[in-house]
Amino acid sequence: MAIAQSDFTNLKTVIAHRGASGYLPEHSLEAIAMAHPMNPDYIEPDIVLTKDSQAIVLHDIHLDTTTNVAELFPDRKRNDGRYYAIDFSLAEIKTLSVHERIDIRTGKRVFPDRFPIVGSEFKIPTLREEIELIQGLNKSRNIDIGIYPEIKEPEFHNNEGKDISKIVLDILADYGYKDKEDKVFLQCFDLNELKRIRSELGARLELIYLLNSRGVSSLNNASDAELKTLSEVVDGLGVSINGLLRNQNKSKESLAKLHELGLVVHGWTVRKDSLPSAFKDIESLLIKLDELGVDGVFTDFSDLVIKIIK
Ligand code: CA
Repeated sequence: MAIAQSDFTNLKTVIAHRGASGYLPEHSLEAIAMAHPMNPDYIEPDIVLTKDSQAIVLHDIHLDTTTNVAELFPDRKRNDGRYYAIDFSLAEIKTLSVHERIDIRTGKRVFPDRFPIVGSEFKIPTLREEIELIQGLNKSRNIDIGIYPEIKEPEFHNNEGKDISKIVLDILADYGYKDKEDKVFLQCFDLNELKRIRSELGARLELIYLLNSRGVSSLNNASDAELKTLSEVVDGLGVSINGLLRNQNKSKESLAKLHELGLVVHGWTVRKDSLPSAFKDIESLLIKLDELGVDGVFTDFSDLVIKIIK
């Protein structure tokens, strides 16, 4: 079924979730280099810190779901059996190989049809390396693809004596990402941290508050005054699409109110190999999200989403 461009009224923004993670191991520079020519609006790095306070691109505070850390450093796990990025120097982390995500409880692959576990060698990049790759490709391809970094678990980092937000903001500023006009959204699940980023750290760039399914339920029950207060801190929300789909009438109402307050709403995550159960393909899901008022989506498959909406 061919969808004319005009059929999508809200859904315009495409965010390459962890790079082209549907095709190559998430957050590898190879996955970034593959995502770039798909022409998403933004590429997403998740960020955690190392022991020596270097910002690296990794989805979890743990290393064991996407690397061979247990093999190389068997005696470096904590009492909970997990390997924490913050216990390793950048030099140590650079010795690890990155592979497709596994479920730590079962040892099985999360997405069995994706890139094989054996074979090519991938590495964990620093935030600086990823930004330099994106900006380099922006120059050589004469295009302006933005970045959409996520600050991971600021409270955990704070308990470890590290101010991850300050470190990330300083790096972003070094590369010209400072103001609302710059092509960057900074995202976090921690609203108190976003308030701190705005007030104490004085960030002027656009901020996105992330909500999981439960967060979307709270959003749908929030008062107008609460939504107004939220709009004074952040520029948009990044919401679980499963959460949005649970109560569609309420979600549609909430999104309309957020739009009136000038906020954007981006949904996560669109995956052809993990669709919400009511949908048979990406296209039908995107049509529904557009109807609910979603302005953009995070996707592991930017190429497929762009083909449908643009
Ligand atoms: Ca993320």
